[in-house]
Amino acid sequence: STALVWFRTDLRIRDNQALQEALSKADRVVAIYIHESEGPREITGAARWWLHHSLNALAADLIRLGVELRVESGNAEEVLGRVLEETGAEALFWNRRYGPNEREVDASVKETFRKRGLTVESFAGHLLLEPWQVETKQGEPYSVFTPFWKAVRQRHDISEPFGTPRARSPDAKPKKVDTDYKEPQWAQKLSEYWTIGEDGARSALKSFLDERIDDYSDGRDRPAKTHTSKLSPHLRFGEITPRQVWYAAKSHAAHHSASSDAIDTFLSELAWRDFNYTQLYYRRDIANHPMKDKYESMRWRDADAGFEKWTRGETGLPMVDAGMRELWQTGSMHNRIRMLTASLLTKNLLVDWKRGERWFWDCLVDADPANNPSNWQWVAGCGLDASPYFRVFNPVTQGEKFDPSGGYIRRWVPELAELPDKYIHRPHEAPESVLKKAGVELDKTYPRPIVDLKTSRQRAIDRMGDL
Ligand code: FAD
Repeated sequence: STALVWFRTDLRIRDNQALQEALSKADRVVAIYIHESEGPREITGAARWWLHHSLNALAADLIRLGVELRVESGNAEEVLGRVLEETGAEALFWNRRYGPNEREVDASVKETFRKRGLTVESFAGHLLLEPWQVETKQGEPYSVFTPFWKAVRQRHDISEPFGTPRARSPDAKPKKVDTDYKEPQWAQKLSEYWTIGEDGARSALKSFLDERIDDYSDGRDRPAKTHTSKLSPHLRFGEITPRQVWYAAKSHAAHHSASSDAIDTFLSELAWRDFNYTQLYYRRDIANHPMKDKYESMRWRDADAGFEKWTRGETGLPMVDAGMRELWQTGSMHNRIRMLTASLLTKNLLVDWKRGERWFWDCLVDADPANNPSNWQWVAGCGLDASPYFRVFNPVTQGEKFDPSGGYIRRWVPELAELPDKYIHRPHEAPESVLKKAGVELDKTYPRPIVDLKTSRQRAIDRMGDL
């Protein structure tokens, strides 16, 4: 018998129940990935680049299990219909996804092929717990993170990861898949920062737990050095599962008691991901609609010139510029700086959060349909359990607090590298002699701030307070 496994956001062979099921039930297993023309939000830019390499890594892992990966494009149901016929498969398996459009596609596919007599089964794997498994006493989804996390952290039913399927043809050579993709020129610089695929995910987790976890609670806010796990794009594409991360971290904590607080903080971040997926699951189109309805009538500014400067990292605010350049160079940005850059755009510049969200969607290797819109809404003040509208991050004081000697700025905004610590976050306030010595010429080598932080902060508070 033949079974087809439809890969989507689960580009791995370990802890993959759909694959496991197919391998145990069928003599022959075929794998497919579809670039879908309808359903999920289109994967573009840096994430598309990641996807390409992840598919090739997956193909190489699968071929050793005796499974060929086919990569196709089009309407999922039509493509699956064709491939099921060509292969004579009697069963179709996949791991679940959670966006409303994706679920519609999946439900329709399930119905169509079950009617034709095929076995069609779906499994869990992308989250710690399914969205409907974590509810308040009233049977509602949580809308505040802290009680959500309290509920998750005491659960004992987070599934243990499935094992590693046995290799059937260990020496098999993979064919290249996803052959229509043309590697863009900018991809070269991104590739210096990442090892894409399941092996890369596993070594990222290992090096984080072996070398960095103890510093996580405090270090995670400090962008000058890598203190965090760097797992987000791997989780995004399912090269590793949150439950693998959960159990590895718990086991580490059991052997290293000093790390247990740090591990608790780390796992709570992982739970934010589940929390955001709950929003994606239950709410309509979170990338295009604020979760708090009153923000639908918010008057955003066009500020096209400001938006442009923001994208290029030329705002004259060093923490923001460093973040936007880090994003452009690496396909990622430190979490705290994501908050600062998003706050400057949505609060100080009063530009619609959806524009910023789309820029990130295109530039981030971890561009995630739940995490990106939810976090943008969190910063803009229109999300569930969001930062309140009157909280406006000040990138200068935040810089002084979390990057006191300016290591992050010196790395990403090299034209400021020679400034002393005292002025590295406020070059526009430095005396002429200090600037001269550091080789900085305001308006020439580095801009003055494009907004006045104080008055623009008040403008945002007034306008959002009026909603
Ligand atoms: P770690 O600190 O090691 O955390 C471990 C894992 O927990 C992460 O890999 C991630 O899966 C999850 N996590 C951590 N912080 C958050 C958070 N705030 N919300 C949800 N999950 C979290 N994360 C994405 O994965 N994709 C996005 O598109 C994305 N867009 C963002 C946009 C904005 C404006 C902001 C403020 C945050 C965004 N985040 C996004 C969340 C966060 O910044 C990244 O997950 C984190 O920086 C990834 O680095 P890490 O893997 O080293 O994280």
